[in-house]
Amino acid sequence: MPRTPPASVAALPSLDRLLRLPALAAMIERHGRSRITSLLRSHLQALRERINAGHLSAEQLQQAVDGPALVAVVDAAIAADARLNLQPMFNLTGTVLHTNLGRALLPEAAVHAVTCAMTTPVDLELDIARGRRGDRDARVQSLVCELTGAEAATVVNNNAAAVLLLLNSLANRREVVVSRGELVEIGGAFRIPDVMRSAGARLLEVGTTNRTHPADFANAIGTRTALLMEVHASNYAITGFTAKVDTTAMATIAHERGLPLVVDLGSGSLCGLAEFGLPHEPTVQETLAAGADLVSFSGDKLLGGPQAGIIAGRADLIARINRNPLKRALRMDKMGLAALEAVLALYREPELLARRLPTLRTLSRTQGDIDAQAQRLLQPMRAALAIDYVIEQAPMHSQIGSGAQPQAQLASAGLRITSAHRGGLDRLAKRLRQLPKPVLGRITDDALWLDLRCLESADETAFLAQWSALQA
Ligand SMILES: *Cc1c(COP(=O)(O)O)cnc(C)c1O
Repeated sequence: MPRTPPASVAALPSLDRLLRLPALAAMIERHGRSRITSLLRSHLQALRERINAGHLSAEQLQQAVDGPALVAVVDAAIAADARLNLQPMFNLTGTVLHTNLGRALLPEAAVHAVTCAMTTPVDLELDIARGRRGDRDARVQSLVCELTGAEAATVVNNNAAAVLLLLNSLANRREVVVSRGELVEIGGAFRIPDVMRSAGARLLEVGTTNRTHPADFANAIGTRTALLMEVHASNYAITGFTAKVDTTAMATIAHERGLPLVVDLGSGSLCGLAEFGLPHEPTVQETLAAGADLVSFSGDKLLGGPQAGIIAGRADLIARINRNPLKRALRMDKMGLAALEAVLALYREPELLARRLPTLRTLSRTQGDIDAQAQRLLQPMRAALAIDYVIEQAPMHSQIGSGAQPQAQLASAGLRITSAHRGGLDRLAKRLRQLPKPVLGRITDDALWLDLRCLESADETAFLAQWSALQA
């Protein structure tokens, strides 16, 4: 309860009077009159409610409407609004391609290309040599063909759009044969049976969850069959008593009956992962060489580029896809195209990829390198934590994420924090999420794990400075 006499609503200054205060002149200059007017109006309304509730003394009201107090209120409100925009984060989850954190980080070359496309007119749909209208996908198409050996390629907003578009273009009102072991659900409501329905295609499931044989496909083909489809089991693995028809065998069956084989590769790597110490993931090149007529894959997963869905393969099928009016609705914007072109161009010099492409740079970090970083960070991090937390250096396992090699574990390292108190870890995790640049780790097995694989050394100082101010 206020100690001094309560404030009265009549004592509230008018909005006009506040706007004329000299202290607010600079704010109005910087943000414009309408923004400041609307923030002050909310402030006055909040004060009015506190007065009506009897929660504000006359003295407190005086203080709340003087110049410096108003500047502070307006500043805080503007900062709070800015926090609703996308926030930079530290990804210490150990998942490199984290869908909730925006997947692949783009290389410098792509950032530069995007800035250019945003701020300058570009030859997006212009054939400069002939002085005629050009094709906006032509540059990406020729890069994809050069890198994968495909005859033709097309590109849309993401891989979900690519699958929808190719099914609608090639299998509308007809049947698509898929193994029961591959009826994938990707997080965020991408489910093969639902996409099939939206595309107007009829799903014909064959085989069983764990075993599908060549005869299952061969026997399912009929007069209404449009194509055979293979879907990468992105986020799960079927193990034990299993059988799968490989791409080569599926292509043979499809081609014997004059049908195309379409493969949704999901992650779609363009280079062998073995050199990064990871289990082999089928590449786009290999899948085409095995006989797939069309392959679709994402731009922002293992490729390490912007959100995109790329379809590569037979020229006649790509031409049918490009004629579909849906292609126009699902097309990529010029910023995405600029970034994708820049990233694909880096693949022309594969030996340099691990240095230039953030996704591959992060995936190829060795455990020794990450462990040395953990060693550097341990003491300063320990110093900032209250004594009821125990922090220690620990080996960890990172994941690629976004449906590439769901079972692959990348030997990594980081800091493991335990707490003597119930709820201590959740409290700390929350404090970390409230930092100016929020830190996201992973709580499992009664510990908070901060995997350092994704902490680039250039960001270490900023990370530590913030951590030292933690007070937890
Ligand atoms: C990730 C994935 C998709 C969806 O790709 P987006 O680019 O996220 O739209 C589709 N199919 C498979 C097999 C995937 O792994």
